[in-house]
Amino acid sequence: MEKKETRQFKTEVQQLMNLIVNSLYSHQEIFLRELISNSSDALDKLRFKAQTEPDIIGDDPDLHIRISTDKDKNTIEISDNGIGMTYDEVNENIGTIAKSGTAAFMAALEEAKKKDSLSPELIGQFGVGFYSSFIVADKVVLVTKAAGNAKAVLWESTGDGSYTIEETEKEKRGTSITLYLKKMDEEGDDYTDEWTLRRIVKKHSDFVNYPILMNVEKTEPLPEDQIIKDKDGKPIGDTTKKVQVDDTLNSMKAIWARDKDDVTDEEHEEFYKHLSHDWNPPLERLHMKFEGTTEYTALLYIPSKAPFDMFYKDRKNGMHLYCKRVFIMDDCKELMPEYLAFINGVVDAPDLNLNVSREILQQNRLVTNIRKNLVKKLFDVFSKMDKEKYDNFFMEFGQAIKSGIPMDFENKDKLAHLIRYKTTRSQGKLASLKDYIEGMKEGQEFIYYITGENLSALMNSPHLEALKEKDYEVLLMTDPVDEWVVQNLTEYEGKKLKSAEKGDLDIDKVDDTKKEEYSKLFDFIKSKLDEQVKEVKVSSRLKNSVSCLSGDDYGMSAYMEKIMKSTGQEMPKQKRVLELNINHPVMTRMKTLFETDTKNSILVDYCHLFLDMAIISEGGKIDDPADFSKRVGDLMTKAI
Ligand code: ADP
Repeated sequence: MEKKETRQFKTEVQQLMNLIVNSLYSHQEIFLRELISNSSDALDKLRFKAQTEPDIIGDDPDLHIRISTDKDKNTIEISDNGIGMTYDEVNENIGTIAKSGTAAFMAALEEAKKKDSLSPELIGQFGVGFYSSFIVADKVVLVTKAAGNAKAVLWESTGDGSYTIEETEKEKRGTSITLYLKKMDEEGDDYTDEWTLRRIVKKHSDFVNYPILMNVEKTEPLPEDQIIKDKDGKPIGDTTKKVQVDDTLNSMKAIWARDKDDVTDEEHEEFYKHLSHDWNPPLERLHMKFEGTTEYTALLYIPSKAPFDMFYKDRKNGMHLYCKRVFIMDDCKELMPEYLAFINGVVDAPDLNLNVSREILQQNRLVTNIRKNLVKKLFDVFSKMDKEKYDNFFMEFGQAIKSGIPMDFENKDKLAHLIRYKTTRSQGKLASLKDYIEGMKEGQEFIYYITGENLSALMNSPHLEALKEKDYEVLLMTDPVDEWVVQNLTEYEGKKLKSAEKGDLDIDKVDDTKKEEYSKLFDFIKSKLDEQVKEVKVSSRLKNSVSCLSGDDYGMSAYMEKIMKSTGQEMPKQKRVLELNINHPVMTRMKTLFETDTKNSILVDYCHLFLDMAIISEGGKIDDPADFSKRVGDLMTKAI
């Protein structure tokens, strides 16, 4: 027998709890939704497990959630006969935050607090869950018995740093949570009041798939033989009696199984919140019934805001799989490709076997077809949105959509229609590749792009000087994922994509005799920078600047190199080409100096400065900043 233990909450749990309590005060009633949601999940888990282990249902087969209150003690209890938790599970689940991206979330919270922009939406994104109990309660007692276990667990906390946990007895499986309610102010809701609870359940949890029961008092007529009558046969006194009955507070109608036109926006919104933990209403929904050889219902929601942990490795896929309204699994990766995992929704496929496993799902033709079809429908919805709505969507989820290009070969063309970029011409707005093609100049062969971290650095990059002079538009790509986009998307509608910083731009040809005149000087420069650059050549890219670095057509861009480095990948140093602008006055003077005063030390300084300036102008980091500033300082002294 385990003794009673007192344990500390993990620091981040306590922080989160304080935050929830302080910032969700005006949304307090959501605690009920969160606890009911947890119970509903626990019942789902039990029902699913019972498919293979029918014995765990035992003598308690009517799955339900129950709310009971005690006005005198000022308590409310939410209980279920779901899967329950073992001693270790209670410690793991309640008291730590085992969710993905906790650290990132805490950082986002800190940031928001600093800016004073802490919103319930932000907290809601994390799914406040069980901890929301402490918004309304100053003490919470949880008793739980895992299905199949003999012992139960008693957990108790006042939400201020620690909790106690010990073994206990409980007759039936499941979890019951008792909240000792805080004293409410006059206007505050009374959570022991039947009608308040009815209203909250109806509002937030009506679709929950199990009956939410509450014992209520009803007035019933007395049976005939208990009515006392006078001699004329008229009843004397009260002809009714008060009885305690179980009432079901929710309609339990699975939203997706209802007729499309019968579900209101509010109902969708609540259901979406239940699925996603997001507090913002969804941007769009798709409710479809497919009939024919494969029969299934799908209800998908496109969120309006990207979750803060969208790109976390262990973030769950938003799809839930049901079979004839029985929950099979959440995080159903088989139903939605990874790059669209931010879509939340339900698929109910009656033809599936109830005890399908993930392994079976992966090879299931029906599931593969559903997935294909859902992706197709989503693409239709995306492409039918008006520009403003789509642009907003893309600002939130563009990175995800773009990451589909290297992953989903089959849909590459469709994805290419969906991506958007800011360009040298778009004035901060987003443009599609189609827009780009429509704006191409006479004689322009390629779709030009440049990748890098910083939009304004790209906009002013020396690499674009010649292109700008010709008024050729350039796509400005500032997402790391863009590097993978351009590796996989080499053309669009017959036009090839071309990097403005790699290979030959194929615009102006430099005249060969002029090139020849500079060849000795260039050999000299190359000899001084042999370690750092692969080649020194005359540039056709530059108009005003004197130098820039370019790569091979198939080489790695500077940005890609930076990304790889930042992820800690070891790579051989990539040498690039130093391009020099021979129309720049400094080149002409340097050539004269080189031909008349070979030993002048300025020549060597200039070689290094050309390289450093090229690196700086593309937002890169030079190898030896101290050396750079010394050389510039010397030059400044000479020039004054
Ligand atoms: P979330 O529900 O978002 O995972 P919570 O903090 O609300 O976060 O709950 C943490 C975990 O505790 C749940 O994932 C679940 O494993 C467990 N849990 C909570 N409530 C119950 C319950 N009524 N029955 C069984 N397990 C529960």
